[in-house]
Amino acid sequence: MVSATPSPSGSAGPADVEHRTIRRLIPARVRRLGPRTLQGRLTLGFSGVVALTLFLVTIFVLNRLDDEFRQQQLADLQARTGLVAAYVDVVAAEKAAPDPVIGPDNVVNPRVASALRSDAYQSFIADQLAEADVDIVLGRQPTTGGDAAPIIPAVDGTFHASVLAPGRAGLTQESFAAQPLQRPATFSAFQYTIVVRLSNPYTFRQTAIDNVATVSAAVGALALGIAVIVAAAMALRVTTPLRRLTEASRALAEGQLGERIPRAEIRTGPAEIAALATQFNAMADQVEESVERIRRDRDRSRDFLADVSHELRTPIAALLTFNELLTERAGDDPGARAEFLHNSRVQLERLDWLAQNLLELSKLDSGLVLLDLRPDDLRVAVESAVEQARPAGRRRRLTIDLHLPNAPIRIRHDPQRVGQVVTNLVGNAIKFTEPGGTVSVRVAPAIAGEGGAGADGADGATITVGDTGVGIEPDELPRIFDRFYRGSRANEARASGSGLGLAIVRSIVEMHHGTVEVTSRLGSGTTFSVTLPSDPRREHGPDGTAPEPLRPIEESPDRGKMVDSSPTARPSLNGETSV
Ligand code: ADP
Repeated sequence: MVSATPSPSGSAGPADVEHRTIRRLIPARVRRLGPRTLQGRLTLGFSGVVALTLFLVTIFVLNRLDDEFRQQQLADLQARTGLVAAYVDVVAAEKAAPDPVIGPDNVVNPRVASALRSDAYQSFIADQLAEADVDIVLGRQPTTGGDAAPIIPAVDGTFHASVLAPGRAGLTQESFAAQPLQRPATFSAFQYTIVVRLSNPYTFRQTAIDNVATVSAAVGALALGIAVIVAAAMALRVTTPLRRLTEASRALAEGQLGERIPRAEIRTGPAEIAALATQFNAMADQVEESVERIRRDRDRSRDFLADVSHELRTPIAALLTFNELLTERAGDDPGARAEFLHNSRVQLERLDWLAQNLLELSKLDSGLVLLDLRPDDLRVAVESAVEQARPAGRRRRLTIDLHLPNAPIRIRHDPQRVGQVVTNLVGNAIKFTEPGGTVSVRVAPAIAGEGGAGADGADGATITVGDTGVGIEPDELPRIFDRFYRGSRANEARASGSGLGLAIVRSIVEMHHGTVEVTSRLGSGTTFSVTLPSDPRREHGPDGTAPEPLRPIEESPDRGKMVDSSPTARPSLNGETSV
């Protein structure tokens, strides 16, 4: 059997292997000597490359120059060979005249021989003309059918003049020789041949090379110095934002959540580090926001716990009092006993109501509640909730008007939860309206932009619950959806209220991705408007008004809170449903 599980050691990537090879090539002791900071490494790396480049270029240039000089000196030496041969030709002809330079017995004319061996001539030829060692051969060249044959030296016809060190500074002796020059004598009436060979000349080649090497070293040192400064500056430009990033991260880790890298600093750094800094700032924003939210939630939970204990204490204290009274004296009086028992029951009902609402709210908040979304007619859910509230309305002698459109409003909603919303809103309206007043409930397709009402609930729907009751103080309006909040006008209805009804309404509406709004005028009434989208699984634009195309339920971010009970397997628009 072949296992596809990777080995525990893991397989090293190519970058890993490369890194390890480099580590193996450089001994640990040398590695330890290298700088540990990024700035040091960048500076050293850049300077090293510049130094190596300079070194190689200098070596190459010096080498080429040396070759070039050598060629030039050789050509020069060759030219001087011709000059020496011409000079010897003239001198020999002059000294021998009117005799031949080489006599018929093949012996060099003694005047010529002694002149060419004299110090004055030798010094002039070697030190002035040739600036090199000079070998001169005088002889005859036999003519063999036109071909040039080797010269046959005449007796006493070989001369050598060694060059002396010249007085000029900078000249050094070389160890090469020019090609020998063979030249027929032209200044003498008698035929003979002169061969001249120059060797070991004095030249400026070595001095020139030394000068170039010195200048190159000086320029190289200067360039290297500039390279180190530029590298250090560039490395600093890279590492400063990194250092700033490290400081900001440390501050964040120590709990200074407001720490950010200023925009001006971000802009000055290289693009990659600027991107990193921008990301860091975004991350810090997120962290700060999350911590803030957690703090707010913690405060809210603390307040909530305090509120719950407070709310529980009131009925429990009342129950304890009744219990004590019944145990002591009032237990014998049937009238008092009946009254206390009735009051106890009221308090127990309140406790039960409180417990139910708390449980409901915590379930809604924790996301444990799944919306059972159905493409049903919204009118049905609203109507049934209103019908259930009618007896309470009648008891308070209120008129309850229900306005439903003739056409069904099919939007995807959880009928039971929407019923609960209407029950809570209508319950409040009944509670806060004086006898003789009116509670009106209206259901209508939502108005989508300028286009008017969408047909068949395609753009959602609005449920409006209005009353002619006591109204809400304007400064209380923003708080009425808070848990346990009760307005100042709620005193008389306090016994039956928990301050949780509107919090539950808001939670359910938000789970449907809908909105709830309230308008109120003191003394004349309050109106709650709940707007529900045609399909909560649709994404909404930032303002909640521009729904994007329908997404399958699996992709919806809130899918954990929704379950689809639609009869069709694929998600569909309400207009398509057959129910
Ligand atoms: P309660 O259980 O106290 O009604 P709610 O959360 O339902 O709690 O309501 C919170 C507060 O909002 C109420 O105490 C009341 O002051 C105010 N309120 C809600 N509905 C109405 C209404 N229809 N008319 C006047 N005030 C209202």
